[in-house]
Amino acid sequence: MSLVTLDRPLGEYQEILLARATDESIRAQKVASGGAVSALLIYMLENGIVDGIVVAKRVRGLVAELVIARTREEVLQAAGNRWSVLPYTTKLREALQSEDLKRVALVGLPCQAQFLYQMRMFPLLETDFVSKIYLIISLFCFGTFASEAFVDLLKLRYGLEPERITYIGLEKNFIKVVYDSEEKLIPLQEVLPFVQTGCLVCPDYTGVLSDISAGISENYPGYTVLIARSDRGLELIYRARDHGYLEVRKASADVIEEIETKARGKIVRATRYMSLLL
Ligand code: SF4
Repeated sequence: MSLVTLDRPLGEYQEILLARATDESIRAQKVASGGAVSALLIYMLENGIVDGIVVAKRVRGLVAELVIARTREEVLQAAGNRWSVLPYTTKLREALQSEDLKRVALVGLPCQAQFLYQMRMFPLLETDFVSKIYLIISLFCFGTFASEAFVDLLKLRYGLEPERITYIGLEKNFIKVVYDSEEKLIPLQEVLPFVQTGCLVCPDYTGVLSDISAGISENYPGYTVLIARSDRGLELIYRARDHGYLEVRKASADVIEEIETKARGKIVRATRYMSLLL
């Protein structure tokens, strides 16, 4: 049975919320999203719920590496990377085994959340490192790029230096690139050839096997859409609110419709490309 369908493109969930960091200094750094994920992670670290956050940190251009953030500053430096898929298993195991960590939260992409979920449910290898994962946050994802060719496209056709890009996301039929605080819209058709082949057959936009999915709504800039899926995820969001880290309200119908529409688009794309392969 598929985890997402055109009828239920967001999979199973408990609540969909709009949230942002209470701390204005976090919001100032995370203008597009309001910094709710960062605030939630900082709440967990500062209150001893986890002792590390596993997250991708951009090191140069669009290239990222997996890091463990242990402080507020490190969380804020390591913005979630949505543009490239890291060689995940080995790096994750190395990171968790080499650090003195007991419990971590992890920020990743839907496919990574799925991998970790399967490792939890059907352990095939040694499981000690997976058992340290307390919470999985999945970022909305429409695809990642074959890095070198995509970087060339951004440089040569649009004059964008990857080092200065702070955000890449989906907006209707365009890719929005934020560059030196300015926005550039690139038609989706133009970047599709640079999307990783595996992404073209991936139907999961939000990360249905995570504890919390997170992304943004075009109609509510400055806020993060949080989809609370597990009891643990939902409880943590409200505890962070009660401790003064998060402002939270229920998402209105238009937010849910927007995210569902994008999620359906990804299912349709995956179905179309899958049929080409069969
Ligand atoms: S589109 Fe799917 S496979 Fe590609 S990076 Fe996103 S979640 Fe992973």
